Amino acid sequence: MPFLGDKHNESKSREEIILKGIPSSPGMALGKAYVIKPEVIIIPVIQIPADKISHEIARLEDGLHNMMNEIQTALDKVKNDSQNISAILETNLLILKDEFIISSIKERIKTGYSAESAVVQEYENQINFFKNSKDLVLKERSFELEHLKDKLLATIRKKITNHNIPENSVIVAQAITPTDVVNFKESKVAGIITEAGGIASHSALLARSFGIPSVIGVRDAHSLINIDCDIIIDGYAGLIHICPSNECIKEYEARKSKEDEHKRELGELINLNTETQDGIKIKLTANINSPDEVKEAVLFGCDGIGLVRTENLVMNLKRFPDEEEQYNWYKEITDRAYPNPVVLRAFDIGSDKYLEGLPHVELNPALGLRGIRFLLHREDIFSNQLRAFLRASVNKNLKIMLPMISSLNEIEHSKILLEKCKSELKEKDIPFDYKIPVGIMIETPSAALLAGKFAGEVDFFSIGTNDLTQYTLAVDRDNEFVTELYDTFHPSVLKLIKNIVDSAKSKKIPVSICGELAGHAAATNFLVGIGIDELSVPPVILLELKKRIRSLNFKKAKKTAKDIINCDSSSDLMKLLELI
Ligand code: PEP
Ligand code: MG
Repeated sequence: MPFLGDKHNESKSREEIILKGIPSSPGMALGKAYVIKPEVIIIPVIQIPADKISHEIARLEDGLHNMMNEIQTALDKVKNDSQNISAILETNLLILKDEFIISSIKERIKTGYSAESAVVQEYENQINFFKNSKDLVLKERSFELEHLKDKLLATIRKKITNHNIPENSVIVAQAITPTDVVNFKESKVAGIITEAGGIASHSALLARSFGIPSVIGVRDAHSLINIDCDIIIDGYAGLIHICPSNECIKEYEARKSKEDEHKRELGELINLNTETQDGIKIKLTANINSPDEVKEAVLFGCDGIGLVRTENLVMNLKRFPDEEEQYNWYKEITDRAYPNPVVLRAFDIGSDKYLEGLPHVELNPALGLRGIRFLLHREDIFSNQLRAFLRASVNKNLKIMLPMISSLNEIEHSKILLEKCKSELKEKDIPFDYKIPVGIMIETPSAALLAGKFAGEVDFFSIGTNDLTQYTLAVDRDNEFVTELYDTFHPSVLKLIKNIVDSAKSKKIPVSICGELAGHAAATNFLVGIGIDELSVPPVILLELKKRIRSLNFKKAKKTAKDIINCDSSSDLMKLLELI
């Protein structure tokens, strides 16, 4: 890969410039720019005489062999990392080794083309196939093939040069391959900036796995950034400060030292699995209210976002956002969390989230037109949101969740609307995840009692213990006069939770808790013991909760949970919990 020399850029301005891209790997870094100039490879259609055919085939084989060796060397370097990392490189290797592609290239050479021309023709064929796919992830693969093709061409032409990248460089490139990322890691680069987008690309995934802050989709990065100039890369917000001012550097240093301190304190836990001492794994996800909060959740190593309260967008704007505004908000969240899943809950408007200006004033809003009831009453608002969800689902890491479900009819009606929105997008050729999972909040006693039936209709459950408690005990969650009665550990609430978990298990759908109980220190033993799959809590609680889960023994927790479920009074139950 050729690199731009110092002198090419010396004349450029040294003023601070801020560029915005897509945050693709979280973290902050400050380093010197290392600009990798994209090689413009123009391969003319070269016809060769018959006596050159075997020579061209040998050149192709030589190129393939060298490139496979390069990937194999990268594979050896990551053999101690996670399996996902090797899998990414192995996919590249499989593409190169593909017998069908190799023999098609050779056939083209036999008809009189040079090795390079034949590679271009065959790879373009494959690339066009993926490029035309409506599936964005497959589309992404076309870029990957493009980079592989360029690299193969450069290898055949023996134009691959190895460079010593100085430690702490911020790589600036048009596009990179997964093998490049492995080499960058070895060179201890500080960050990566690419012009090519593609949050789902394998290179982006690798940077994330290696914890290298990176920002992608930065247009004209390599022409705007001078080699050797200082760069601050903010992989949380997707910002790049070129030649940062002293003030900006100070601010960066403060943020960085906070980040480092946090990492040090909890660092060991972040990279450890969330599992009990006897190996039962629990997913730990985060409850968030805005795209900005994803960074904290990611920093704490969560397995995804278990609840996005999308009504916060409405409350911030003090009006309903249009489809485009929503799409941008949702896409930012799903991009930042990628490849981990994100559960976006449809607007839970009403009750305590009553919004001034909404077309209803109710005497008893908690029992009124709230959550799914409001959405089905205002199909226009609901459809806008569903379309925005679908459009933001192209990376296939978005799940839709319906709030305040109490009857089957509400699920069916919502699904019909969703299908209608899917057809509208299909007609306009707008891509989305056709198999987008749809789940429901179980937060009314009605839903808890009918969970066995509902489990056959949806892809997942999330238990909203805040509302489940309020509706089960008939105690207003916001009324200070009955605070003492608002008891999430009430035996009736715990029995309902157990019923919901059992129902989900019987239909083999995952079940999580996203209400406050999920993070309550006294509840972890019980929740793990009844077989909960996932706990979704505010980001700040994630690591404490992980620590608690790691200290538990599942078999013991199961037994205690049984005793707890058999308690008929809160006081007996609390005594049991205190004993744990
Ligand atoms: C719940 O009810 O437990 C829940 C998570 O939803 P919210 O608190 O937003 O009503
Ligand atoms: Mg709720």
